[in-house]
Amino acid sequence: MAATIIDGKVLAAEVKAVAARDAAALKEQGISPKLVVFLVGENPASAVYVRGKAKDCAECGIDSIVETLPETTTEADLLARIVAMNADPTVHGILVQLPLPGHIEEKKVIEAIDPKKDVDGFTPVNIGRLQIGEDCFVPCTPAGALYMIQAAGVQLAGKDAVVVGRSNIVGKPMAMLLVAQSATVTVCHSKTQNLAAKCAAADVLIAAAGQEKLITANMVKPGAVVIDVGMNKNADGKLCGDVDFEPVSQVAGAITPVPGGVGLMTRAMLMANTIKAAQWVLQAQK
Ligand code: NDP
Repeated sequence: MAATIIDGKVLAAEVKAVAARDAAALKEQGISPKLVVFLVGENPASAVYVRGKAKDCAECGIDSIVETLPETTTEADLLARIVAMNADPTVHGILVQLPLPGHIEEKKVIEAIDPKKDVDGFTPVNIGRLQIGEDCFVPCTPAGALYMIQAAGVQLAGKDAVVVGRSNIVGKPMAMLLVAQSATVTVCHSKTQNLAAKCAAADVLIAAAGQEKLITANMVKPGAVVIDVGMNKNADGKLCGDVDFEPVSQVAGAITPVPGGVGLMTRAMLMANTIKAAQWVLQAQK
């Protein structure tokens, strides 16, 4: 039997509708949620992502400012702009679109963002809070993936979950979120031995490696939930995930498509995090 498709379009619309409702409620209380996005240089993919973020903000009633800075921007200049946004009380969320030009140290720039405005959840403070189970900004992609798993009706407690990928922005926070839901989690990476056998034991399989067709049907347990985070280009230049979708969907119980899956949820979760940042400001005023 073919797997249920976990529809990112429907779920992202749901998350954005809540964000829009909350944005309106915040405005009634005198707070207009605002996101500032820094775009440095000429990376065309980054420019597309940033336009998408501004569009999402407009849809949700969130103000957005895109600070477009030239490729020649110095690290000191960018840091100074971030410090200014940290100090601006009308700004609730700050995001620096990655990658940055080579002469700018990403780590330094991310660490300059006020953790209370770090809507990407990339600062060490938010990463640490996630680790110890405190309220924090959860990185948007794993947050979106978790939302999809839960929307599919999966009770994670006691389930075996496998995450393929251990990056700081996807794999590791994904694993922490699953542990927090009481799943038993295995994290795989490029040095993992017997990847296929490990994946085939998973009730929930998260593919976040960035390798087209890495996950084949023989690596999937019948009925498993498969979340495809990968965003790759195939030989025809088309967007595809890490999962060999057609054959895997004959084995899995539920699966996310690419496109139309986790990517849309990532965008929606940024809206949710921006609202959360503005709500914190409101709470602090009370
Ligand atoms: P990284 O390149 O930072 O990390 C990839 C991870 O996958 C690494 O841990 C790597 O292992 C592991 N890996 C690579 N090849 C294999 C393999 N053959 N077998 C097992 N593990 C492997 O990527 P990101 O985490 O940033 O992104 C992962 C994918 O998700 C990409 O396709 C990216 O485009 C996509 N993405 C999608 C988003 C969305 O919104 N849908 C958002 C962010 C990313 P090792 O650590 O040993 O090198």
